[in-house]
Amino acid sequence: MDQFAAASRQPEGVVQPSVRPIAVPRQGLGPGQPSPPEARPTVVPLADRSRPALAADDLDLMAAQLGRPVRAVHGVAARCACGRPIVARTRPLLADSSPFPTTYYLTHPGAIKAIGRLESGGLMAEMNQRLRTDPELAAAMMRAHLDYLRRRQELGQVPAISQISAGGMPRRVKCLHALAAHALAAGPDVNPLGDLVLIELAPVWRPDRCSCSPGPAQLAQPASAKETKTKENDG
Ligand SMILES: [Zn+2]
Repeated sequence: MDQFAAASRQPEGVVQPSVRPIAVPRQGLGPGQPSPPEARPTVVPLADRSRPALAADDLDLMAAQLGRPVRAVHGVAARCACGRPIVARTRPLLADSSPFPTTYYLTHPGAIKAIGRLESGGLMAEMNQRLRTDPELAAAMMRAHLDYLRRRQELGQVPAISQISAGGMPRRVKCLHALAAHALAAGPDVNPLGDLVLIELAPVWRPDRCSCSPGPAQLAQPASAKETKTKENDG
């Protein structure tokens, strides 16, 4: 047993990850990064999941975050503390009828960039190694895979991808963005490797502290100034 076995003793609203953390070389955070001002947390930082419906300016915000139009967005599965989208919940079928397996799509540029650094720092290789040798973790990731499929099926049945989740699940780790997006959307203890990504990420990016640019103040424009969008960006 280790410190992460003590979930039941945590205060309400604080959830410990169910698997041990993976030590990541600090250079994994990339050159030019200041030393993290704090250690990695021992709990998973929580995103705001209270407003899944698309707000009037969400599609514009996500397009600006990604630098291109977003496709097949059903809602916003996770938001920054400032309200901006972090994870888009997308429909499993695009407007041109092609299957779209990435149901939870990370849109936040700060998160995308920081996770890219984790990937280039070798975290995926360590996770794959653990997945091969830790049956408990493998079983948990199988459950995460099934959870992903179940949540997608709520948005429609697409036989071509009915057994395909995202990020390499259940047996491989191929994309930390996909795992983190699932963890942000589903909350802690659903995708343990996604939870670990969020913990590793926390010294440089976390969903419960806004690091958006521009900051929250500039976001507080009257929504009435913008046209309400109701149709898809597909096409
Ligand atoms: Zn923010």
